[in-house]
Amino acid sequence: MIPIITIDGPVSSGKGTVARLVAARLAWHLLDSGALYRVLGLYATRQGVALDDQPALIRLAENLPVVFREQNGDTAVVLDGEDVSADIRREEVGEMASQVAVLQPVRDALFARQRAFALSPGLVADGRDMGTVVFQDAPLKIYLNASAEERARRRYAQLKEKGFDATLATLIEDIQTRDDRDMNRDVAPLKPADDAVEIDSTSLSVEQVVDAILDEAAR
Ligand code: C5P
Repeated sequence: MIPIITIDGPVSSGKGTVARLVAARLAWHLLDSGALYRVLGLYATRQGVALDDQPALIRLAENLPVVFREQNGDTAVVLDGEDVSADIRREEVGEMASQVAVLQPVRDALFARQRAFALSPGLVADGRDMGTVVFQDAPLKIYLNASAEERARRRYAQLKEKGFDATLATLIEDIQTRDDRDMNRDVAPLKPADDAVEIDSTSLSVEQVVDAILDEAAR
C-alpha cells in the first residue's frame, strides 16, 4: 500500500507550505487539491460555463486538461498548455473554486483524479477533505489549525510582501467568514477526521510543524 499523509485545515493555516516541505523532505509526491478546484473554476469561467451549471461542470471536471509539472522544487500548474500557476492564486479564482466545490457531483468527478496521485514512494495530500473523504485509508492524517488572529497576521505579512494593502481587522473578519462557510457547508464540511492528529500552529514555526509531522510519520 502506498503511504499517504493527509494535511487538512482552514484557510491560511499554512497547510500548503507545510505539505510542500514534508513532501520534499520525504521525496514523496504532492497533491494540492485546492489547485484542482481553482483550475476547474478558472477553466469553467474561461469556457463561459456558469459556476452553478452542474452537468457542464461535471463534464469539464472529468476531462480537465491540467498537468502539474514539478520544476525546481515548485509545481507549475499547466491548463491546456498554458501556465496558470499565478492566475489560480488570485482572490477571485479562490472564490470560483469555493463555488464549484459546494457541488457534490463535481467533487465526485474530481475524486478519481485525486486518488490517482497516490503513487510510489508516497503522497502528501493537502486540502479540506483529504483525511475525511478522499484518502480515508491514509495511515497518517493531520489537521492543521491556528487561531484566526494568527492566520490573519500571516496573511497580512504575505499581502504586505506583495505590495497589497489590507487591514488586520478586515483580514480577521474575512477568515472568520471563510471558516464559517467551510465548516458549515452541507457538502464535505471542513472538520478533523476522527483519527486525525491535530496540530495547533499558532505559536509554532513552519519548521516546527514540519518536524512534528515527520515525527508522527516515523512512529
Ligand atoms: O486550499 P485552497 O484555498 O486553494 O482551496 C480553494 C477552495 O477550494 C477552498 O476555499 C475550498 O472551498 C475548495 N476546496 C475544497 N476541497 C478541497 C480543497 C479545496 O472544497 N479538498
